[in-house]
Amino acid sequence: MREENLEMSKEKAIITLLQGCNSLNKLRKIHAHVLVSGLRHHVAINNKLLNFCAISVSGSLAYAQLLFHQMECLQTEAWNSIIRGFAQSSSPIDAVAYYNQMVCASFSSPDTFTFSFVLKACERLKAERKCKEIHGTVIRCGYDGDVIICTNLVKCYAAMGSVCIAQQVFDKMPVRDLVAWNALISCFSQQGLHGEALQVYNQMRSENVGVDGFTLVGLISSCAHLGALNIGVQMHRFAREKGLVESLYVGNALIDMYAKCGSLDQAIFIFDRMHRKDIFTWNSMIVGYGVHGRGTEAIFCFERMLEARMQPNSVTFLGLLCGCSHQGLVQEGVKYFNLMSSKFRLRPEVKHYGCLVDLYGRAGKLEKALETIRNSSPNDPVLWRILLGSCKIHKNVGVGEIAMNNLNELGATNAGDCILLATIYAGVNDTAGVASMRKTIKSQGIKTSPGWSWIEIGEQVHKFVVDDKSHRDSIEVYERLREVLHQASLFGYIRDAETLKTSTTYHSEKLAIAFGLARTADGTPIRIVKNLRVCRDCHSFMKAVSVAFDREIIVRDRVRFHHFKGGQCSCNDYW
Ligand SMILES: [Zn+2]
Ligand SMILES: [Zn+2]
Repeated sequence: MREENLEMSKEKAIITLLQGCNSLNKLRKIHAHVLVSGLRHHVAINNKLLNFCAISVSGSLAYAQLLFHQMECLQTEAWNSIIRGFAQSSSPIDAVAYYNQMVCASFSSPDTFTFSFVLKACERLKAERKCKEIHGTVIRCGYDGDVIICTNLVKCYAAMGSVCIAQQVFDKMPVRDLVAWNALISCFSQQGLHGEALQVYNQMRSENVGVDGFTLVGLISSCAHLGALNIGVQMHRFAREKGLVESLYVGNALIDMYAKCGSLDQAIFIFDRMHRKDIFTWNSMIVGYGVHGRGTEAIFCFERMLEARMQPNSVTFLGLLCGCSHQGLVQEGVKYFNLMSSKFRLRPEVKHYGCLVDLYGRAGKLEKALETIRNSSPNDPVLWRILLGSCKIHKNVGVGEIAMNNLNELGATNAGDCILLATIYAGVNDTAGVASMRKTIKSQGIKTSPGWSWIEIGEQVHKFVVDDKSHRDSIEVYERLREVLHQASLFGYIRDAETLKTSTTYHSEKLAIAFGLARTADGTPIRIVKNLRVCRDCHSFMKAVSVAFDREIIVRDRVRFHHFKGGQCSCNDYW
């Protein structure tokens, strides 16, 4: 009787010690104590020891393995500790290996936690077949209604890009918590399906599901991608109501969203009011200034960032260089490009070289641009393409041909390049050159990527593709466009039949503008997001529309923003 009591109190004392344990050193001492006390086969104590080693930040997976292999009659709890430990380690494959052993072992069977941890490992390994196999086991074991497991299945399938299966798992869940909804939203946004991500939000609203910071950040960044300002503003209001606007992550997402939706002033407003700023906050603001062509302000913001003792990274410099290039600040751009490696030890990447080539190219310093490409490594086709674009602005056939030859050598020529060079030939009345480019496109069957534009009306994002007839209001849009074209022509728009294109009449942004004019109230700005660069014809069309209808038009194209107002564009016709 007394001996039993003694045993009990020893056991209690050890468990109390284990609860207060915070280092591997202490754990080793407790473990030694366990051994000399004759408690080496005590299940609860062993499980606690193992759990600490496998999961705690100050634990050790090697020690955990040692303990694990000395344990007898391994129960589910022990397996879960070791699987969880490896699932979050640098070697998630071991978690899968232990899971495989567990399935074959006696004394234990997988439970909610086992499945969740091993699925986490599969997610990190992108092990699709294993995930499907575990999914099968989950169903056979009757766990397919488990919220935690299903949420992990959604995450796992999402990580592998299997959006349809992720959606199916989600749809079949009998109960869904917020974590599951968030998993589905990030599933869509990871795959670039931002419209679908926002659809999930509509579904959440109709089912009266609340949102948290994670949901908001996901949705706000989808708005940023789509240029869906109205929904973004709604998210902002939501964040204020929920008291989440103070959150660093939400703040950063809002800055990025406003900047990408063309509302730079709102981005600045939020930036100025953020008490805590991290690297993403500064970068979002500097990149925002950059893509809006406001180089001076990007530089000013960068200097403030240094004063705040924040270390810039390669994204910071992209924003800076982009701003310098769009504003024609050659000296400053070169200075910051050099500063990148000399002061901040950052190696310029292709994108940085691209900005520098663009900077020289736009400013007409084509020789300098050429030199930059030759000094860069690796020799990326993107750089030659940027140079080709500059040659178009400055009508330089010689350098244009050099760029084209290099693109050919790299086997990277596309239809856009041929059209660019043809335009350069046309600019100097070289009809033979134009004809040869036309032939190249035909003979090589080079395809153009179709242009599309998004426009947000109310809370709906509409997509228009070049020569599109698929939109449900297509007839109305085309009719309206003819009227708008006529009005625009009264305000100085002259149709410029671009060299190789038979017609630029139905470019997606024109369709989107006609639709926008029809569906929004007088005086509201029209915001468009486009996948390619705006062509010269559409550019002059939009300038004319901005006076003819007294509307501000904000277009985000592949590289920058254009703010059209009163017949002028913020890019000064230089893009
Ligand atoms: Zn166009
Ligand atoms: Zn412009």
